[in-house]
Amino acid sequence: MTDPTPLPLTAVPLDRAGEQRSAPAFIAAQRVDPRASLVLFAEGQPLLADHAGGADRPGLGLVRLNLAAAGLVGAAEPPIFLGLEASGPLFAAAARPGFRLAGTPLEGLGGFEEVRMIAGAMHHGEAGIAGLAKSLLDWHGRHGFCARCGARTEMADGGAKRRCPSCAAEHFPRVDPVAIMLAVCEDRCLLGRQKNWPSGFFSALAGFIEPGESLEEGCLRELREEAGVIAQRPRYLFCQPWPYPSSLMLALIAPTDRFDCRPDAQEIEELIWVTRTEARAMLAGAHPSVRCPGPHAIAHHLIKAWIAEEG
Ligand SMILES: [Zn+2]
Repeated sequence: MTDPTPLPLTAVPLDRAGEQRSAPAFIAAQRVDPRASLVLFAEGQPLLADHAGGADRPGLGLVRLNLAAAGLVGAAEPPIFLGLEASGPLFAAAARPGFRLAGTPLEGLGGFEEVRMIAGAMHHGEAGIAGLAKSLLDWHGRHGFCARCGARTEMADGGAKRRCPSCAAEHFPRVDPVAIMLAVCEDRCLLGRQKNWPSGFFSALAGFIEPGESLEEGCLRELREEAGVIAQRPRYLFCQPWPYPSSLMLALIAPTDRFDCRPDAQEIEELIWVTRTEARAMLAGAHPSVRCPGPHAIAHHLIKAWIAEEG
């Protein structure tokens, strides 16, 4: 990368205590640590301080509560252990469906906001913690039953896995690899617009890696399927966890020697080849007709990295 700043949603400033969290006594000790704190989610959105601030709120952070707040909001399971921060152990919990702050002792502490919309305004480490917690809470919420035998599963290792008491199967949080790529030809890169995106909004093409496929093979297949582009020798650059709900976005640049392309008509409605000059204007929000993802998303940094390769 040309920019030394880590990508948003990376570099989570926690010690995950991976070698200790499988010991029930360790997790139990963290739960009763008087310094322990809790970050709270409702409908997949974290409780953030300074909710009443304006659009530009650098340093926006997660509200840290006492662990007892998990009971107050009707959390279905014990809080998940996220890791150790300088101030003590940190946990996360999800409020019961339909929970509202109004009328509770938590009213006035902040507001629930969608991470995707405000990650760029959050303190870097806080956005990373929010992404980690969102991904884990979502996974627990969707894996209450054993995929092998159908019995109800139980949280284990403070939330680092679930265990089935009936068949003893262990289930681990998912991470789904996604290739996100720029096909490049001469001084242009290929961007696409999905049918459900606003008019004028374009981004790098992307798709899930399938079983039995390397990252590079998945990248080339997605370019063929979504855009009819035949590229060669894709090159990996960097990656970003994307908690919607559990993707790991792996960015590549894939050279091709032809501008031929056609949208797949299912996912992609429109394709455009943009020059570096146009891409610079897009990233700056100064292009007259084309917009692209902001700096919270890896697509923005992928386009930026390609621009920087000029010459
Ligand atoms: Zn089972």
